[in-house]
Amino acid sequence: MPLNQDVIFSCSIDDGHPSDMKAFELLSRHGLNATFFVPIRNREGMPVMPAADLREIASRFEIGSHTHDHCFLNKLDLPVAQFQVMEGRKRLEDMLSRTVPGFCYPGGKYSRVHAQLLRQAGFAYARTTTNLCFDSGRRRFEMPTTMQFYPHRRSVYLRNFVKGGRWHRRQAGLRLALENDDWMLRLYALFSHARKQGGVFHLWGHAKDIDELNAWPQFDQFLGHVAQRVKPANRLTNAQLATRAFLRG
Ligand SMILES: [Zn+2]
Repeated sequence: MPLNQDVIFSCSIDDGHPSDMKAFELLSRHGLNATFFVPIRNREGMPVMPAADLREIASRFEIGSHTHDHCFLNKLDLPVAQFQVMEGRKRLEDMLSRTVPGFCYPGGKYSRVHAQLLRQAGFAYARTTTNLCFDSGRRRFEMPTTMQFYPHRRSVYLRNFVKGGRWHRRQAGLRLALENDDWMLRLYALFSHARKQGGVFHLWGHAKDIDELNAWPQFDQFLGHVAQRVKPANRLTNAQLATRAFLRG
Protein backbone atom coordinates (compact mmCIF):
# COMPACT_ATOMS: atom_id res chain seq x y z
CA MET A 1 0.00 0.00 0.00
CA PRO A 2 1.57 3.35 -0.97
CA LEU A 3 2.13 5.63 1.96
CA ASN A 4 0.26 8.89 2.12
CA GLN A 5 2.72 11.80 2.11
CA ASP A 6 0.35 14.14 3.89
CA VAL A 7 1.01 12.99 7.44
CA ILE A 8 1.31 15.88 9.88
CA PHE A 9 3.80 15.79 12.77
CA SER A 10 3.53 17.82 15.93
CA CYS A 11 5.39 17.43 19.19
CA SER A 12 4.85 18.81 22.65
CA ILE A 13 7.18 18.74 25.63
CA ASP A 14 5.68 19.45 29.05
CA ASP A 15 6.84 21.01 32.32
CA GLY A 16 9.73 23.32 31.36
CA HIS A 17 12.38 21.10 32.98
CA PRO A 18 15.98 22.26 32.26
CA SER A 19 16.45 19.07 30.18
CA ASP A 20 13.94 20.51 27.70
CA MET A 21 17.00 22.19 26.17
CA LYS A 22 18.16 18.77 24.99
CA ALA A 23 14.78 18.17 23.31
CA PHE A 24 15.03 21.66 21.81
CA GLU A 25 18.47 20.88 20.33
CA LEU A 26 17.34 17.58 18.79
CA LEU A 27 14.05 18.91 17.39
CA SER A 28 15.97 21.87 15.91
CA ARG A 29 18.65 19.66 14.42
CA HIS A 30 16.04 17.54 12.65
CA GLY A 31 14.16 20.59 11.37
CA LEU A 32 10.96 19.62 13.19
CA ASN A 33 8.48 21.79 15.04
CA ALA A 34 7.21 21.69 18.61
CA THR A 35 5.46 23.36 21.51
CA PHE A 36 6.92 23.53 25.01
CA PHE A 37 4.30 23.85 27.77
CA VAL A 38 5.87 25.59 30.73
CA PRO A 39 4.68 26.52 34.23
CA ILE A 40 6.33 29.43 36.06
CA ARG A 41 7.10 27.20 39.05
CA ASN A 42 6.53 23.53 39.68
CA ARG A 43 4.76 22.90 42.98
CA GLU A 44 6.03 19.30 42.87
CA GLY A 45 9.53 20.66 43.39
CA MET A 46 10.90 20.05 39.91
CA PRO A 47 13.14 22.83 38.55
CA VAL A 48 11.87 25.02 35.70
CA MET A 49 14.33 26.36 33.16
CA PRO A 50 15.50 29.99 33.40
CA ALA A 51 14.01 32.77 31.28
CA ALA A 52 17.07 32.93 28.99
CA ASP A 53 16.57 29.29 27.97
CA LEU A 54 12.86 29.84 27.45
CA ARG A 55 13.63 32.78 25.16
CA GLU A 56 16.04 30.66 23.18
CA ILE A 57 13.38 27.98 22.68
CA ALA A 58 10.81 30.67 21.82
CA SER A 59 13.11 31.97 19.07
CA ARG A 60 12.32 28.82 17.13
CA PHE A 61 9.31 27.06 18.64
CA GLU A 62 6.05 27.79 20.43
CA ILE A 63 5.89 28.22 24.19
CA GLY A 64 2.52 27.36 25.75
CA SER A 65 1.19 27.83 29.26
CA HIS A 66 0.93 25.05 31.84
CA THR A 67 -0.56 27.08 34.75
CA HIS A 68 1.55 29.16 37.15
CA ASP A 69 2.49 26.39 39.59
CA HIS A 70 1.79 23.19 37.64
CA CYS A 71 -1.57 22.78 39.38
CA PHE A 72 -4.16 20.17 38.45
CA LEU A 73 -7.15 22.39 37.67
CA ASN A 74 -9.73 19.88 38.91
CA LYS A 75 -8.24 20.14 42.42
CA LEU A 76 -8.77 23.90 42.64
CA ASP A 77 -11.70 26.18 43.42
CA LEU A 78 -12.68 27.97 40.24
CA PRO A 79 -11.28 31.43 41.20
CA VAL A 80 -7.92 29.80 42.05
CA ALA A 81 -7.98 27.87 38.78
CA GLN A 82 -8.68 31.15 37.01
CA PHE A 83 -5.71 32.79 38.73
CA GLN A 84 -3.44 29.87 37.79
CA VAL A 85 -4.52 30.10 34.16
CA MET A 86 -4.30 33.89 33.84
CA GLU A 87 -1.14 34.46 35.88
CA GLY A 88 0.72 31.54 34.28
CA ARG A 89 0.15 33.02 30.84
CA LYS A 90 0.80 36.63 31.86
CA ARG A 91 4.19 35.77 33.37
CA LEU A 92 5.20 33.87 30.24
CA GLU A 93 4.05 36.71 28.00
CA ASP A 94 6.02 39.23 30.07
CA MET A 95 9.12 37.02 29.87
CA LEU A 96 8.83 36.37 26.13
CA SER A 97 7.30 39.69 24.98
CA ARG A 98 4.82 37.82 22.84
CA THR A 99 1.34 36.38 23.11
CA VAL A 100 0.93 32.82 24.38
CA PRO A 101 -2.09 31.25 22.64
CA GLY A 102 -1.76 27.65 23.87
CA PHE A 103 -2.45 25.83 27.11
CA CYS A 104 -1.89 22.27 28.32
CA TYR A 105 -3.78 20.85 31.33
CA PRO A 106 -1.29 19.70 34.02
CA GLY A 107 -1.80 15.99 34.64
CA GLY A 108 -4.36 16.03 31.83
CA LYS A 109 -6.94 16.98 34.51
CA TYR A 110 -9.82 19.24 33.54
CA SER A 111 -13.56 19.43 33.08
CA ARG A 112 -15.77 21.35 30.69
CA VAL A 113 -15.80 24.34 33.05
CA HIS A 114 -12.01 24.66 32.64
CA ALA A 115 -12.25 24.45 28.85
CA GLN A 116 -14.80 27.27 29.07
CA LEU A 117 -12.51 29.26 31.35
CA LEU A 118 -9.69 29.02 28.80
CA ARG A 119 -11.98 30.11 25.98
CA GLN A 120 -13.13 33.14 27.98
CA ALA A 121 -9.52 33.96 28.85
CA GLY A 122 -8.76 34.23 25.13
CA PHE A 123 -6.63 31.13 24.64
CA ALA A 124 -6.73 29.68 21.14
CA TYR A 125 -6.56 25.99 22.09
CA ALA A 126 -5.69 23.50 24.84
CA ARG A 127 -3.93 20.14 24.72
CA THR A 128 -4.97 17.13 26.77
CA THR A 129 -3.22 13.82 27.55
CA THR A 130 -5.73 11.73 25.60
CA ASN A 131 -3.68 9.51 23.30
CA LEU A 132 -4.12 7.10 20.34
CA CYS A 133 -5.64 9.80 18.10
CA PHE A 134 -4.60 10.44 14.51
CA ASP A 135 -6.41 13.75 14.15
CA SER A 136 -6.79 17.01 16.09
CA GLY A 137 -10.01 15.99 17.80
CA ARG A 138 -13.34 17.77 17.59
CA ARG A 139 -12.85 20.46 20.21
CA ARG A 140 -10.16 23.11 20.20
CA PHE A 141 -9.90 23.09 24.02
CA GLU A 142 -9.48 19.30 24.13
CA MET A 143 -6.77 18.63 21.56
CA PRO A 144 -5.64 14.99 21.84
CA THR A 145 -2.27 13.37 21.16
CA THR A 146 -1.09 10.13 19.59
CA MET A 147 1.51 8.81 22.02
CA GLN A 148 3.54 9.82 25.05
CA PHE A 149 7.26 9.10 24.70
CA TYR A 150 7.20 6.70 27.64
CA PRO A 151 7.15 2.90 28.11
CA HIS A 152 3.64 2.67 29.54
CA ARG A 153 2.12 -0.65 30.49
CA ARG A 154 -0.86 -1.94 28.52
CA SER A 155 -3.18 -1.15 31.44
CA VAL A 156 -2.29 2.55 31.11
CA TYR A 157 -3.34 2.52 27.45
CA LEU A 158 -6.59 0.77 28.31
CA ARG A 159 -7.44 3.31 31.04
CA ASN A 160 -6.57 6.24 28.79
CA PHE A 161 -8.66 4.72 25.99
CA VAL A 162 -11.74 4.29 28.16
CA LYS A 163 -11.45 7.76 29.70
CA GLY A 164 -10.74 9.60 26.45
CA GLY A 165 -13.85 8.58 24.48
CA ARG A 166 -14.08 8.74 20.66
CA TRP A 167 -13.49 5.00 20.80
CA HIS A 168 -14.34 4.33 17.18
CA ARG A 169 -11.66 6.80 16.02
CA ARG A 170 -9.08 5.46 18.48
CA GLN A 171 -9.55 1.69 18.29
CA ALA A 172 -6.90 1.18 15.58
CA GLY A 173 -4.40 3.01 17.80
CA LEU A 174 -5.35 0.92 20.82
CA ARG A 175 -4.91 -2.29 18.86
CA LEU A 176 -1.42 -1.22 17.74
CA ALA A 177 -0.48 -0.11 21.26
CA LEU A 178 -1.56 -3.44 22.76
CA GLU A 179 -0.03 -5.57 19.99
CA ASN A 180 3.41 -4.01 20.35
CA ASP A 181 4.74 -4.79 23.78
CA ASP A 182 8.05 -3.09 23.10
CA TRP A 183 7.44 0.65 23.38
CA MET A 184 9.80 1.51 20.53
CA LEU A 185 8.00 -0.89 18.19
CA ARG A 186 4.74 0.68 19.38
CA LEU A 187 6.03 4.18 18.61
CA TYR A 188 7.07 3.27 15.06
CA ALA A 189 3.87 1.25 14.44
CA LEU A 190 1.66 4.19 15.48
CA PHE A 191 3.66 6.57 13.30
CA SER A 192 3.40 4.18 10.36
CA HIS A 193 -0.37 4.03 10.87
CA ALA A 194 -0.55 7.85 10.86
CA ARG A 195 1.30 7.84 7.52
CA LYS A 196 -1.09 5.34 6.01
CA GLN A 197 -4.02 7.50 7.13
CA GLY A 198 -2.42 10.77 6.06
CA GLY A 199 -3.40 11.86 9.56
CA VAL A 200 -1.76 13.57 12.50
CA PHE A 201 1.00 12.10 14.64
CA HIS A 202 1.27 14.07 17.86
CA LEU A 203 4.13 12.96 20.10
CA TRP A 204 4.37 14.36 23.61
CA GLY A 205 6.61 13.75 26.57
CA HIS A 206 8.67 14.99 29.49
CA ALA A 207 12.40 15.62 29.00
CA LYS A 208 12.97 14.52 32.59
CA ASP A 209 11.48 11.10 31.76
CA ILE A 210 13.78 10.81 28.73
CA ASP A 211 16.72 11.60 31.04
CA GLU A 212 15.67 8.93 33.53
CA LEU A 213 15.08 6.34 30.82
CA ASN A 214 18.42 7.17 29.14
CA ALA A 215 16.31 7.32 25.99
CA TRP A 216 17.82 10.36 24.24
CA PRO A 217 19.40 8.19 21.49
CA GLN A 218 15.99 6.62 20.79
CA PHE A 219 14.32 10.04 20.78
CA ASP A 220 16.97 11.33 18.38
CA GLN A 221 16.59 8.32 16.11
CA PHE A 222 12.80 8.60 16.00
CA LEU A 223 12.97 12.31 15.15
CA GLY A 224 15.35 11.43 12.30
CA HIS A 225 12.87 8.81 11.08
CA VAL A 226 10.07 11.42 11.18
CA ALA A 227 12.13 14.09 9.43
CA GLN A 228 12.71 11.75 6.49
CA ARG A 229 9.00 11.10 6.11
CA VAL A 230 7.12 14.32 6.89
CA LYS A 231 7.34 17.20 4.45
CA PRO A 232 8.45 20.53 5.95
CA ALA A 233 5.03 22.18 5.48
CA ASN A 234 3.49 19.48 7.70
CA ARG A 235 5.82 19.93 10.70
CA LEU A 236 3.64 22.00 12.98
CA THR A 237 3.57 23.54 16.43
CA ASN A 238 0.44 22.74 18.42
CA ALA A 239 -0.89 26.25 17.69
CA GLN A 240 -0.39 25.73 13.94
CA LEU A 241 -2.11 22.37 14.21
CA ALA A 242 -5.06 23.97 16.02
CA THR A 243 -5.25 26.77 13.46
CA ARG A 244 -5.31 24.27 10.62
CA ALA A 245 -7.89 22.04 12.32
CA PHE A 246 -10.28 24.61 13.76
CA LEU A 247 -10.36 27.40 11.20
CA ARG A 248 -14.05 28.00 11.81
CA GLY A 249 -13.78 28.00 15.61
ZN1 LIG B 1 2.85 18.77 33.35
